[in-house]
Amino acid sequence: MSLPEGWEVVVGLEVHTELRTATKLFCGCANAFGAEPNTQTCPVCLGLPGSLPVLNRRAVELAMAIGLALHATVSSSTFHRKNYFYPDMPKDFQISQYDRPINAGGYLDLPDGSRVGIERAHLEEDTGKSTHLGGGGRIHGAERSLVDYNRSGVPLVEIVSAPDIRSAAQARAYAAELRGILIATGASDGRMEEGSMRVDANVSVHRVGEPFGTRCEMKNLNSLRSLQRAIDYEAERQYALVASGGVVRQETRHWDEDRGVTSTMRSKEEADDYRYFQEPDLVELVPEPAWVEAVRAGLGPMPAARRAHLAALLDEPTPAQLDAVGTVVDLGVDDFVEAAVAQGVEADRAIARAANELAGEARERPGLTPGAFAATLRLEQAGELSATQAKAVLATLALAGGDPVGVARELGFERMAAGELEGLIDGLIGEHPDEWGRFCEGDDKLAQFFTGRVMRATRGQADGKVVLDLLRARRG
Ligand code: ADP
Ligand code: MG
Ligand code: ZN
Repeated sequence: MSLPEGWEVVVGLEVHTELRTATKLFCGCANAFGAEPNTQTCPVCLGLPGSLPVLNRRAVELAMAIGLALHATVSSSTFHRKNYFYPDMPKDFQISQYDRPINAGGYLDLPDGSRVGIERAHLEEDTGKSTHLGGGGRIHGAERSLVDYNRSGVPLVEIVSAPDIRSAAQARAYAAELRGILIATGASDGRMEEGSMRVDANVSVHRVGEPFGTRCEMKNLNSLRSLQRAIDYEAERQYALVASGGVVRQETRHWDEDRGVTSTMRSKEEADDYRYFQEPDLVELVPEPAWVEAVRAGLGPMPAARRAHLAALLDEPTPAQLDAVGTVVDLGVDDFVEAAVAQGVEADRAIARAANELAGEARERPGLTPGAFAATLRLEQAGELSATQAKAVLATLALAGGDPVGVARELGFERMAAGELEGLIDGLIGEHPDEWGRFCEGDDKLAQFFTGRVMRATRGQADGKVVLDLLRARRG
C-alpha cells in the first residue's frame, strides 16, 4: 500500500488479552475456553442483584507482569463501572479501570529498532459471548441470538499503545512482538484464533508535519494478517475521502475479512457516554512495593533478549538465519536449541531444524523432548543419518515418542557405508555413459540425474550431499 508522497498513516492499537488464571476476575468460576455454554457461571459473573466481587490476586500479578515487561509504572489503582447495555453483559456495566490504571507509561521496542509508546495497560472483566444466527453472523439482520456467559468475568488486560505506529507492517510487527511478550510473561496463551488476544486498530491519515487526522477504530481483526490488511484498506479509504474533498468521521468500523473492506458499525455522534463512576464494591488496589519487585524478579527473559542470545550462537548470522531465530522464539522452542548446542550440535543446524521441524503438528510433540531432539541432530551431524532421515525421525518422535536410535532403526534407516555408495555410482556410470560424459564435461545438471538414481536405489537413505561429493570427486 502506498499513500502519496508527504502523506502518512497513523495507528494506535488497543489489545485485549485474556489472562491465564485458574478462575475469573471477581468470582471462583473456572476460566477455561471451550466448555459447554453456561456451565461456568455463578451469581457474581451473571450479575445477579446482591452478589459481590472479590478481586483475583493472580490476575493482579499477571497484569503487573505485563506492565513491567512493557517498562510501565505500576501504581495504586481503582476500579470503575463502565455503563452500557449489551445482552452478553448481564450487569449492564463492565468493571474496568479508568483514570487510575494499574500500569501506565511504558514502551515496546520492535525488532526493526523502532519504539512504540504504551499509554496504559489496565485490568477489566470480559463480557459473555453472543452468537448471532442468520444475518451473516452480525446482530443486524440476525434471526436470533444465543448468549454464553462462560466468558463473562474472565480477567482481561487492555494494552493501549500511543499513536506512534506509521505503517500496517509496523502495526503487525507490534502485535506480533506484544504477543510474544504476553506469552513470555505467562499472562496469556496469545491465541488470536480463540479470541484470547484481540486487537482493535485506530487509524488516521495526515500530511506529514500537520496535526493528526480524525481516526476510525476497527474491530474484528482476528489475525495478524487481517490487522495488516485492514489498516492498509482503511488508510487508502480515508486518503481517497480526504483527497476528494470529504472529511473522515470518527466512528467504529467493522472489518469484513471475506470482502476485504471496512464498513460503519457506529459513529461517534451516537457514541458512548459510559457514565464511569468508581465501583463501590471494591477498594483501592494498592500493590505493596515488595510484591511488585517479586513479580519483576520472577519475569523470565523477553523475546528480544532470547533472540539476541540465540543469534549470538551464530557467527555473522545471515538474514535467513535471523528469521529462523525469530521463528524458534515464536515457537517457544529455545530450550531445544540450547539442549542441542550443549551436546555439541552446530548452532546453525540446531536453529534451522528447530525452526522448520518443530512447527505445526510437531508443536504438540508429546514424545519429542529437547534431549531426543539433540540426540537426533547429533546422529545427523555424525553422518549416521541424512538430513531427510533426521527430519523423519523428528516427525516420528513428535507423534509417538521413543529414542532416536531405536526410531531410526524401526524406520529402516541404516548408515550407508561409503563403499556401498561408490559401488552404486560405478554401476550407474556403466549404465549411463552418455550422461556421465556430459557431467564430466561440466554439465552440472546431470548431477541431479545421478543423485536421483542413487536416492531411488537406496530408498532415500543416502545423504544427498555425500553423493554429490562422491560424484564430483569421481569426475576429478
Ligand atoms: P478512546 O477512549 O476513544 O478509545 P483513547 O485516547 O483511549 O481514546 O485512544 C485510543 C487509541 O487511539 C490509542 O491507541 C491511541 O494511540 C489511538 N489514537 C489516538 N489518536 C489517534 C489518531 N489521530 N490516529 C490514530 N490513532 C490514534
Ligand atoms: Mg479505547
Ligand atoms: Zn462466576
